[in-house]
Amino acid sequence: MRLDGETAIVTGGAKGIGLAIARRLATEGARVVIADIETEAGKEAAEDLSAIGTATFVEADVSERLDVHNLVTGVTNNFGPIGILINNAGIGHSAPFLDLAEDDFDRVLRINLKSAFLCGQAVARHMVDTVKQGGKAGRIVNMSSINDSLAIADQLPYCVSKGGVKQLTRVMAVALAPHGIRVNGIGPGSIQTEMLAPIENDEDMRRMVLSRTPLGRVGDPAEIAAVAAFLASEDSSYLTGQIIYADGGRLPLNHTMP
Ligand code: NAD
Repeated sequence: MRLDGETAIVTGGAKGIGLAIARRLATEGARVVIADIETEAGKEAAEDLSAIGTATFVEADVSERLDVHNLVTGVTNNFGPIGILINNAGIGHSAPFLDLAEDDFDRVLRINLKSAFLCGQAVARHMVDTVKQGGKAGRIVNMSSINDSLAIADQLPYCVSKGGVKQLTRVMAVALAPHGIRVNGIGPGSIQTEMLAPIENDEDMRRMVLSRTPLGRVGDPAEIAAVAAFLASEDSSYLTGQIIYADGGRLPLNHTMP
């Protein structure tokens, strides 16, 4: 119960990694607010989590400023100070560089990167007020990817957006450190969610991914949730501005490749 009495927002928490994080935070005692565009899945997720803790669903497109404003205002009005923000919402995208459409570039950057800025800034303003009133300093966790450091030719907007999330994490950490607010990120490798469907359905691709993952398997969303809970708790009290890569050894291996 490391997070007892805390309020946590998990963006993109209706399924996949976000849902696993919401479940883990609720298990550790946090009141969890799932913010997602998938209304049915989000409501179901909150209902399921109510069996282990307190969970609420709020429909919000976190790449839209007004939705973010309404989300943050609603949560603070109803549940009090936000102690934890998990900026997890994101989408994948694949296209050869020469065919990449401007709209797709903009969409991926907006959902994967701008959303983390919008939510991060809106929540951080509340977190700073909480600290000024003598309350506990908040923690923000941004979902990056190993692709924040890899150059994958047919995933330009995704790689650029996650590279941006990595820098957003570092700059926000420095900006908010004077208030004691910590900002860290997670860089997952290949994790078993719907985002992995293109790999699931392509045996050659799957073999290639596994051959580049020293642990020899894809990760489970719960393994990313465990890192998120650590970063959201006081167990990581001297960590800020870091990305923790939970990737089965993929990045270290990549760095040894010719
Ligand atoms: P997923 O598709 O299973 O879940 C993503 C969730 O985000 C969905 O519930 C979706 O509705 C929500 N979402 C999308 N756009 C949104 C928006 N504008 N506003 C609110 N919610 C929105 O994907 P996942 O695999 O669980 O990925 C979660 C995060 O982890 C993403 O940021 C992704 O880039 C990152 N990641 C995933 C993997 C992987 O292998 N699965 C690897 C590295 C990083």
